[in-house]
Amino acid sequence: MPRTKPFQTVLSEAVVDLRRYGYDSKARLQKWVRDLRRAARGMVGSDAALEAEIKRALQQSYRQQVTGGLLARKHGIPAYTIKKLSPTLQRELSRRTQASVDLIRLNRTKSIEETLQRFSGWATAQNPGSAADEQLRPLKTSLSKPIRSLPFEKRRVIIDQTAKLNSNLNYLTATNNKAIAVEWYANPDRLNYNHRKEHLERNGKIYALTDGWAYQKGFITKGAGLYEDIDGFGVLPFCSCRGRYLYHLDQIPDDMLTDKARAALKNT
Ligand SMILES: [Zn+2]
Repeated sequence: MPRTKPFQTVLSEAVVDLRRYGYDSKARLQKWVRDLRRAARGMVGSDAALEAEIKRALQQSYRQQVTGGLLARKHGIPAYTIKKLSPTLQRELSRRTQASVDLIRLNRTKSIEETLQRFSGWATAQNPGSAADEQLRPLKTSLSKPIRSLPFEKRRVIIDQTAKLNSNLNYLTATNNKAIAVEWYANPDRLNYNHRKEHLERNGKIYALTDGWAYQKGFITKGAGLYEDIDGFGVLPFCSCRGRYLYHLDQIPDDMLTDKARAALKNT
């Protein structure tokens, strides 16, 4: 297979050609759109390479959390308990990997089509020999903007999906180990971050876990609400809120405890 020409080269050739001959036929435009699409696909790389890159990124985070012992330390539970849970955690890793691949693929398709649309819009407006005063470089920059933003978009998706992976690993660990509630941490001091107002308001508040034994058996009220009823940590795009999971009644603020809990605490 012959090596495909770089996208920017094909774009230059297309612009020069359209300027010289103008938009004189549909066939001329179609030929360039075809060539540009092929070059754009070559530029963004193969699906297999993308998948490998995402796997590497998410697996690194997974290793840190699961095999590296971060989860066990954070939740104060033994390493073998995490090990027992690993099929469940592995499934979450695959889910996040697949979601990332799908999102980035979708972005790619969209950006390529957007670039081609910009080009077509420009091309169909060309009359032979006109617009000679238009500078080539800024024109090419503007036509190829969607496709050039792809590496940035890809990084954003990986960062967001890594945050989602981490918060789901935490949730799964907590709910499988009898956590009863979670304290919201909105990362209020984070710089250069557009905090959601509603999430800042949740900072420090405590939410009961719906299926936790304490709520189920009437030892605690919902507190600020049931965690499963709200958008959780990292669910909304680029949410960097986190949770501190609570496992014992004596970690729960007094106004969230029922009489049953108070009586139980007195007896310990
Ligand atoms: Zn948030």
